[in-house]
Amino acid sequence: MIEVQNIHKSFGDNHVLRGIDASFEAGKISLIIGGSGSGKSTLLKCMVGLHKPEQGKILYDGEDFTRMSFEDRIPVRKGIGMLFQNSALFDSMTVEQNIIFPLAMFTDMSRSEKLDRANFCLERVNLAGRNNLYPAELSGGMKKRVGIARAISMSPKYLFVDEPNSGLDPETAILIDELIADLTEEYQCTTVVVTHDMNSVMGIGNYILFLHKGQKWWEGSNKEITRSDVPELNSFVFASPF
Ligand code: ATP
Ligand code: MG
Repeated sequence: MIEVQNIHKSFGDNHVLRGIDASFEAGKISLIIGGSGSGKSTLLKCMVGLHKPEQGKILYDGEDFTRMSFEDRIPVRKGIGMLFQNSALFDSMTVEQNIIFPLAMFTDMSRSEKLDRANFCLERVNLAGRNNLYPAELSGGMKKRVGIARAISMSPKYLFVDEPNSGLDPETAILIDELIADLTEEYQCTTVVVTHDMNSVMGIGNYILFLHKGQKWWEGSNKEITRSDVPELNSFVFASPF
């Protein structure tokens, strides 16, 4: 479980996150939704330690990540898998090298163990045998899947996924959602997904956090979302083609 408490984050005088509180449960998929620029990616990056919030706490299973020393963060970091908004693969590395990268950083696995793990992860995302391709040779959906394979290479306890479906056709988007749901079930991980996709909200969201101008504007389940009386949420929900 991850809890964020009163998170504030500014870039210069741009006060992006204005006191966010939320809880993300293990074994469930939580979705962060909201308009472009509302702070979704910033919140995710604060949660994984890529941005340092000026105020607030981020508790990983009760332990405050924001106040941990570099050494104390390492075991938490080892449990984190992340797919970035733009997939963020290393262009000069093959698919296999991209997936092995976290294993080389964080484990003392032998070369053959790392290769076995890479093959397992590639199979998991339905890309078996594509080990030696370079990112430039992949479609957008394949890049996302390689990004997910890298995110699960360490058997994550916490899985963060930023816009897995952007730029994908509806069919591929559904496959990616199903994959995220299966992985969450399999690893019983705390999964946090940023999305604009109402199909994902209705399909896989156990808990939805709606951000507006850096604040928590609404939270609830996908059953409640179409019955809200929050105008900003309704415009977001009903503007989406689902
Ligand atoms: P989108 O749906 O377009 O991805 P978002 O909700 O993820 O939007 P963020 O990327 O979190 O939005 O950005 C929120 C605000 O923070 C924007 O005003 C953006 O310009 C600013 N911002 C984000 N990252 C940085 C950064 N590294 N440096 C300066 N400003 C930033
Ligand atoms: Mg974003």
